[in-house]
Amino acid sequence: MKIAKTNEALATLLQDAKAANHSIGFVPTMGALHAGHIALIEQSKRENQITVCSIFVNPTQFNDAADLAKYPRTEEVDAQKLEKVDCDILYLPTVDEVYPSDWQSPDFDLGHFDSIMEGKMRPGHFKGMAQVVYRLLYLVRPNKLYMGQKDLQQFTIIKHLIPQFNLGFELICAPIVREADGLAMSSRNVRLSEDERAIAPLIYKTLTTANPANFKSPSTYRDFAITQLEHAYMKVEYVEVVDRNSLLPVNNWTESQEKAICVAVQLGPIRLIDNIFID
Ligand code: AMP
Repeated sequence: MKIAKTNEALATLLQDAKAANHSIGFVPTMGALHAGHIALIEQSKRENQITVCSIFVNPTQFNDAADLAKYPRTEEVDAQKLEKVDCDILYLPTVDEVYPSDWQSPDFDLGHFDSIMEGKMRPGHFKGMAQVVYRLLYLVRPNKLYMGQKDLQQFTIIKHLIPQFNLGFELICAPIVREADGLAMSSRNVRLSEDERAIAPLIYKTLTTANPANFKSPSTYRDFAITQLEHAYMKVEYVEVVDRNSLLPVNNWTESQEKAICVAVQLGPIRLIDNIFID
């Protein structure tokens, strides 16, 4: 695996692949890599000739300075994990490489996606996310971009922005990789205490009970889910039954055939998000 720390080094490494018209798959991450990230790398490896992974903890998408300061940084171990799965290029830039002083971010229209769920709870987060994804895509110019269903709203926003980005790539959504007890893997999970870690799988358990046969309406399910999670000392930020494409709430089970149930809770020091798809 080759490591590029500057845009110039990255361009040099990609030069030959581009000249040979090789397909480039790109997996942007913030590091502290786990099996969920590695699954994205492996999928890209299967579907492209060259796979690029970036590790960049993007300051512009953190609306909480303490969260940014505490974000786990494990670059050396990450590089070893990527090497093991034969990732071709690791792009490991500094903030100045990603945001040089003469670079100005285009102003993207995020539509209603910015004011619901994660957008409502984390003002400015998606603006920063869109900015960094655009910038990284501009530097890597991949054929395929791999993102996880774990961050469904992030994925949906990038899908919405494809025409505005105008960079000609295909967007691929990869399924959520979970721990054996159902907890969605996340770089932040390491900050859970033993007790909090034991409670956390209740989120997925609660999501999987969302069967229309068991609940009269999405709001009946929602009330049940909130009560169940709050009984386990989680602070529920939202539970929403939404259409998977618009991410807008549905009022009855038949309103949309492609639904997602999205949850965000605060558990001890961290926020956990998760979602599942239902028909
Ligand atoms: P992050 O490093 O958290 O910004 O995540 C980088 C990419 O990995 C994003 O596209 C995430 O949606 C994806 N991802 C994070 N956790 C998981 C998971 N448990 N399963 C699959 N993909 C994931």
